[in-house]
Order: sequence, then C-alpha cells, then structure tokens
Amino acid sequence: VTATMNDLEIAQKAMMWPITKVAANLGLNPDDFEQYGKYKAKLNLDVIADKAPTKHKLILVTSINPTPAGEGKSTVMVGLGDALNLRGLKTVIAIREPSMGPVMGMKGGAAGGGYSQVMPMEEINLHFTGDIHALTSANNTLAALIDNYIQRDNQIGLDPRQIIWKRAIDVNDRSLRNIITGLGGRINGIPREAGFDITAASELMAVLCLATSISDLKQRVGRIIVGYTTEQEPVSVADLGFADAITILLKEALKPNLAQTLAHTPAIIHGGPFANIAHGCNSVLATKAALTLGDYTVTEAGFGSDLGAEKFLDIKTPVLGRTPDAIVVVATVRALKYNGGQKLGELTNEDLEALRKGMPNLLRHIANMQQYGYQPVVAINRFTSDTQAELELIKQECAQINVTAVVANSWAKGGAGTLDLADAVVSATANPVSFQPLYDHNDPIESKLQTVVTKTYGGSGIVLSAQAKRQLRRISDNGWANLPVCIAKTQYSFSDDPQQLGAPAGFEVTVRELIPKIGAGFIVALTGSIYTMPGLPATPAAVNMHIDAEGKVEGLF
Ligand code: ADP
Repeated sequence: VTATMNDLEIAQKAMMWPITKVAANLGLNPDDFEQYGKYKAKLNLDVIADKAPTKHKLILVTSINPTPAGEGKSTVMVGLGDALNLRGLKTVIAIREPSMGPVMGMKGGAAGGGYSQVMPMEEINLHFTGDIHALTSANNTLAALIDNYIQRDNQIGLDPRQIIWKRAIDVNDRSLRNIITGLGGRINGIPREAGFDITAASELMAVLCLATSISDLKQRVGRIIVGYTTEQEPVSVADLGFADAITILLKEALKPNLAQTLAHTPAIIHGGPFANIAHGCNSVLATKAALTLGDYTVTEAGFGSDLGAEKFLDIKTPVLGRTPDAIVVVATVRALKYNGGQKLGELTNEDLEALRKGMPNLLRHIANMQQYGYQPVVAINRFTSDTQAELELIKQECAQINVTAVVANSWAKGGAGTLDLADAVVSATANPVSFQPLYDHNDPIESKLQTVVTKTYGGSGIVLSAQAKRQLRRISDNGWANLPVCIAKTQYSFSDDPQQLGAPAGFEVTVRELIPKIGAGFIVALTGSIYTMPGLPATPAAVNMHIDAEGKVEGLF
C-alpha cells in the first residue's frame, strides 16, 4: 500500500471485516440486523433508542464554503471517527449515502478519501442497499397514482395545472427539468407540464431522513401536498388515499445501513439529501442509531456551515431531540487561498497574502457556529502542498479569537493522523453549550428568511419575487407559516451569487419560489439560479471510468 494510490485503489486493496464482526463489536446480536451481502447490513429499528444517554456525545462536522480546490469534510470525519476509536473511545460515524447522479458528473464519489474512507467504496457510491432506488420508485409511483387520479373521475377536483408533485430520478439530467406528460390522446392521460427533481432533492428523501418510525413515516407521507384543486384547496397524499402504499415501498429503506471505515470503525450510512437544494443531513434514525450504539457519534451536514449546519441546527435537531455537544469546522489552506483570490492552477504555491485575504470566510463560519452557542474546533485538512507558515497563519488567526485550530492529516495517515483533532474535540465536548436556535419556528416565514440571510449569510435582506409573494400568501392561508425554512442556495458563496467568494456583505438574496414540503415539515425557498435537478458538466466523471473483463472498476474517486 503506497501513498501514490488513488482512493479507489486504496479501497480495493483494503481488507474489510465481515459486517457481522463490525456489528458484534457494537454489541449487536444477529437478530438486530439483516445482512445485505457480506459487508453491508440494515439495522432493525428496534435497536434504536428514542433517547440515547446524554453522556453519549454528538459531534457535528461542517466546513467553510466549498471550492474547486476541495475541502475534504468526509475525509476528516472518517479520520476523526477512526482517531477516537484509536483513543479507545467507542465511536460510530453517521453520514449520508452518496447520490449516483453527481458520481457520474462532477464528484466521482463521496465516501471520504485517501486513508480515511468508508467501505465498500464502490457499492456505497453506486447502488448500495437500494434505498435511493426505493425512494425513486416510491416517488414515481405517487406521480403515476396522481396522474391516474386526474385521468379517472378526479372527485376531489385536483387541478392538472396546479400539481406540484414532481417525478424523481437519481441521474443528473437537465433535459428532464421541464417536460410535458400525457401526450398522445385520450387514453394516454391528461397532458400537463411536469418535471423531474434529482431523488436527493425530493420531498420523500427529506421525509425518510426526518421520520422517526414507520408510523411517523406514514404520517409524513400522508401530509405531503401534491397540488391544489380548482378551488385552490391543498390536496395531500392522505386525501387521495395513497399514504399506506407509498410507505410500504419505503419500509426497508427506512432502516439505517451499517458499513465500516478502512480501520473498521462502524459507519451508519443512510439518507442523502444535498445541502444546497435540500436539507443536507443523514437520517434522524441513523444519527439516533449511532447515538444509541456509540459513546461518541461523529456526523456531518453537507457543504458549508451556511447550508448544512444551519439546516442541521434549525431543522434536524428539533426532530432529533438533541443538539450537538461539539462542532468541527473543516478548512483547507488551498480553499482559503482560493477564497483570497489565488488562481486554481497556483494553489500549490505558498501565498500567505492570499491566505490572509481568504481567512474572513473561515472566520464567518466560526462566528456562525458561535451564534448557536458553540466554540467550534477548526480542523485544517492537510494537503501535501501546505507549508508550515501557511498552517501556522491559520492557527494564529484562530488563536486570536480563542478558537483551537488543529492540523488533521486524515487523508495521508487515517486515524493516526487525526489524533490531535480527536483530543481537541473530546475536550470541546466537555464544555457546556447553551444552545440558541437562530430563529423561532413561530416567526413569520419572511422574518425567518430575513434572519438566515442577515445572521448567517451576512447579507442585508431578502427580496421576494412576485411568484414567491403569491406562494407566501397561500402558505399563510393554509396555516403552514410556523414551519422552518429550508433555503436552496449555491454552496460556493455566502450570497446567492456563486462568484462572490470570501465573506461578502451588503447583498440581497432573491427568493424566486416558496414551496411547501409539509411531509418533510419545512418550506423550501429557492434562491438565485439553483436547480433541483443538476446537469452534467462538459467532461463528466463518467467518461474517465473503466471496467475490465473481471469487473474491476477504475475512475471512481
Ligand atoms: P467533501 O466531503 O468536502 O465533499 P471529501 O472528503 O469527499 O470532500 O473529499 C473530496 C476529494 O478530495 C476526495 O477525492 C479526497 O480523496 C480528496 N481529498 C480530501 N482531503 C485530501 C487531502 N488532504 N489531500 C489530498 N486529497 C484530499
């Protein structure tokens, strides 16, 4: 095993434990889980405690704004979990399942990297235990049931022009964003404008991730609003009588998946909403399972703290019934230099000036976590090109505001390279936190949006489009205004403009649309030009993938 191997090669060389051994180490009996092959299992829901002991600690890992230079949040998370286990602390990692669309597009894979990865890497990145396929099927079964309903007697009077339930697929396919279904005459349905979201952005994904039991899943599915009648009355899945059927299609997918890291730390990988266009956290049941089984749980929220962590703290924690004991903000020298204006091709050159200029991005993410009552620990994800002077600069600027910054060498050395971070995090969990949510769920929708934009993004306020204003009126009229807001925004900037790096200020955020997701229990606000169905780039990762005659894969990274 050498340092020149890529992620997939390291993963392919690794010796995995049978999942039965990982489960036994967690104290699980053979009846507590079902095997999906040799290296994956699904946990039975009855092993998950509703309230884990409070002495079991929850650690949330978030990061600065991502850049093309890479931040490596998953890599640091996995390294941290392995390091805590090396210290003799029983630790479980809870993370999201990668969506296949981006694996074929930009990302290539999402299971950590280097010597800090979850296994089996290929399966986790592709079809895994089929949860995303189950979600896709359930989503499209509901769409078909709705179209059949309007084709038949449509007793409720569902207006074909006001159906908001979209189809879903786990593929980046821009051509499916806006389509017309039902063409071809009377027996082929009622023509209407429709469209696809990527499954990761679907309401059912959010529902699966926030459901706390089968009955809660059924309640949430039933509450989903699929459209409106010609009289402008909302129509739910329960109104149409489809809630049980859709829940049946999701009952296995609801069970959290158990896998392992390269160092055999148990990893519960379940649910995969993106943090830019959805709420960005693994399932509540996965986090609860980790909290039940481990003394320490390391979990993530996608992209920067402006997206994932905000949604974790304002949307997920009320359902989870507890808040994190410590928060880690991952940063890299390269990404901060990129934020400070250094060119992508030059990031391996030392540039203290650019680094200093990029630091306000990290400082605002730190300040954001402080607003909730945390003194976060900064993890500097070390790249081989980082110089000592650059690492020191970050540490010193953090020390000036009493924040501990620790270099994490998770990528090159796994848990052994992440011990300092583990120690800093363990001491952080000992500090009492007086948690302050960003807003009260009972505040009006406009004021909740205003609060996130001004307090978290650093902007001056929001502007609602004419359409968003109409939708806001409808949300208030239907009594949904007390739900939290889930803002869909670019991950690259604090603002709604991906070009504004660093710590921009004084900008307004335009809300194009407000979409009620009553099953998930939040109102989605679409900002900027963010799409809920991504496209593929000019050179998709797919073109660099290869498979040989034995079925060995190359090009996932
Ligand atoms: P994120 O969770 O922030 O999307 P990942 O942890 O998935 O990032 O890492 C993205 C990619 O960057 C992976 O291919 C990983 O191998 C690579 N990477 C992460 N950290 C490092 C590092 N310190 N040095 C080199 N490559 C890294």
